[in-house]
Amino acid sequence: MSFAGTVIQWQRERGRHGLPWQGSRDPYRVWLSEIMLQQTQVATVIPYYVRFLSRFPTLKSLAEASQEEVMPYWAGLGYYARARNLHRCAKVVLDDWHGLFPENANDIASLPGIGPSTANAIAAFCYNARQPILDGNVKRVFCRYYAIEGDTQKKAVENRLWDVAWQHLEGATDNIDMAAYTQGLMDLGATVCTRGKPACGVCPLADECVARIEGRQAQLPTARLRKSVPQRQVCVLILEHEDRILMYRRADKGIWGGLLTLPEFADRQACSSYVQHSLGESVTAMPLAAFEHVFTHFRLHIEPMLVHAKAMPALMPAAGDSTDHTSRWQWVELGALAESALPAPLKTLLTGYFDAETGVASDTPRLF
Ligand code: SF4
Repeated sequence: MSFAGTVIQWQRERGRHGLPWQGSRDPYRVWLSEIMLQQTQVATVIPYYVRFLSRFPTLKSLAEASQEEVMPYWAGLGYYARARNLHRCAKVVLDDWHGLFPENANDIASLPGIGPSTANAIAAFCYNARQPILDGNVKRVFCRYYAIEGDTQKKAVENRLWDVAWQHLEGATDNIDMAAYTQGLMDLGATVCTRGKPACGVCPLADECVARIEGRQAQLPTARLRKSVPQRQVCVLILEHEDRILMYRRADKGIWGGLLTLPEFADRQACSSYVQHSLGESVTAMPLAAFEHVFTHFRLHIEPMLVHAKAMPALMPAAGDSTDHTSRWQWVELGALAESALPAPLKTLLTGYFDAETGVASDTPRLF
């Protein structure tokens, strides 16, 4: 049996079925699932996918929404450039493609936020196009199956992997169920040929897999040289006034772009100085437990400070942002925190601290 035939048969018998985006050939639904699944596990994606679709059931409804309306439905899923590009892409399809997703993989890949592997997956799932995918999981399967060495992020290695991905399809003369084949490769990478413990005993590719035959599963794919991760520090101020929190909507670019965040200071000292300067010498900000959040390229050490303000404080300027600052500040009701476009660590911090149902602070006395 051909490589593709083996994968298809395995997918039908043992692959994942019944996921909310499976069985649909609607490119909007497939595209949404593919973007959400980038760098993110299926179990995490499912509730986000269902909630997003219930609010934005069609590409048109997404394209006609504002970014502020979209971001709360992505908040907590991370990699927020995906959401901004998703929204931009919906507008491009509505304006330039009469609201219909293009069918050709190259045209799909020309849209914002869609790389070649995602474009091919959409073309394969929706139009049965013979286009191969090459996401991180599939790279791992091919590296092991063919014993391909080297950093998979390097162009030469990636080109080699694309070559084998194409060979499986170009060499096959029979009809290929591209949806089953594409899903099968994804499923194998995610559930059988896993990073830490590949389950070679139940793998349909085991007979021909060079890594298994040579016992080199642990050495493949070649580990990338890890640079030490820099650490940054920030102090965030939870400024509560009449059951609302002062928050700032970030500019679209960069970390947490487009999301609501707390006022930031270099350290607790700078935060305390601000509080006393703007709210009175007798007012003290209370330090809460610090915690860390890990981004792709750095670790962020977050030190929260808390103030319950009786008086309405003046809004603060945003450092480094030349746009109209005042329009970016807003008060968020405690009861609305869970549904707001907050980054996951801040949402956890705030909803963990405040009772979002009743809007009552958990255990802190009012400080002034
Ligand atoms: S035999 Fe093992 S290493 Fe090879 S593809 Fe299957 S799970 Fe991965």
